[in-house]
Amino acid sequence: MLTREQWGARAPKGPGGKRTALTPAPITSRTEFVVHYDDATPVIINGLEQLKSRMRGMQVFHQGPERGWVDIGYNLLVASSTDPIINGLIVEGRGRDVVGAHCPNHNTTGIGVQVMIGGNQQPTPEALNAVRDLYDQACKDAGRKLTIMGHRDGYSTECPGQILYPWLLKGMPRPTTKTIPAPELDPWTRHARPEDDEWDILDTIQLTLCRLGKQTIPPCANLSLINALRSTWALPPVTEAVYGRDLVRKMQEWGGRLTVNGILSAETARRVTKVMNDQLTGKGL
Ligand SMILES: [Zn+2]
Repeated sequence: MLTREQWGARAPKGPGGKRTALTPAPITSRTEFVVHYDDATPVIINGLEQLKSRMRGMQVFHQGPERGWVDIGYNLLVASSTDPIINGLIVEGRGRDVVGAHCPNHNTTGIGVQVMIGGNQQPTPEALNAVRDLYDQACKDAGRKLTIMGHRDGYSTECPGQILYPWLLKGMPRPTTKTIPAPELDPWTRHARPEDDEWDILDTIQLTLCRLGKQTIPPCANLSLINALRSTWALPPVTEAVYGRDLVRKMQEWGGRLTVNGILSAETARRVTKVMNDQLTGKGL
């Protein structure tokens, strides 16, 4: 998930522009899952930076005079893009467990999820899978089967459009195809979204890049030590939510020295650690 912090969200905005707190809506109190699209215009987003910028723009609009909401209306969003770096990425809007502003009379009972498509644009299979993931997790956490709704079921609107709505009526089945078969891609650009236990690995790679540049790495061969040292060294924060292009480019500069396949894994971490240690002993970069 791309968090609010990662896309650069502002604080929720109350009356008079003052900071405010969002109203909690505990998951156990939810009964509905409300799906949206963007609007009649197709949505084109390329790359993580465009996605972040789009989120910031949406927040400004929703908090602005035209809408006047405390924050982004949707609880969560899902990117649908031909760019494998962001395709199917879940984005935190207002957050799942707070009252939204996406459908009158359903903002406390319903979790509002926007799929980033417009008009008759086809959502990617990865985006649909991500929506389904969100739904399954929400039902599990709520302890009940949430009612699947389109925005139009609670309000007079076209939303979520002619493509998504029939899918909702069918119960949001998982698609059987993938947009981009991973093996056909250059492994360096293959999409890899870190699983929970892979965040440490991503941190390691980024920290390694930072420290190699400065030639000041003390011996450190394991992830927990690196993480412990982060605060001590005041290292730059992790800047990428996915295995993004900048990171790939930097790793490519290492050429044969760091032969990894572009997929985050324990093997990647081992290789990164080895390069780091070689550098410390004078054999490396
Ligand atoms: Zn809607």
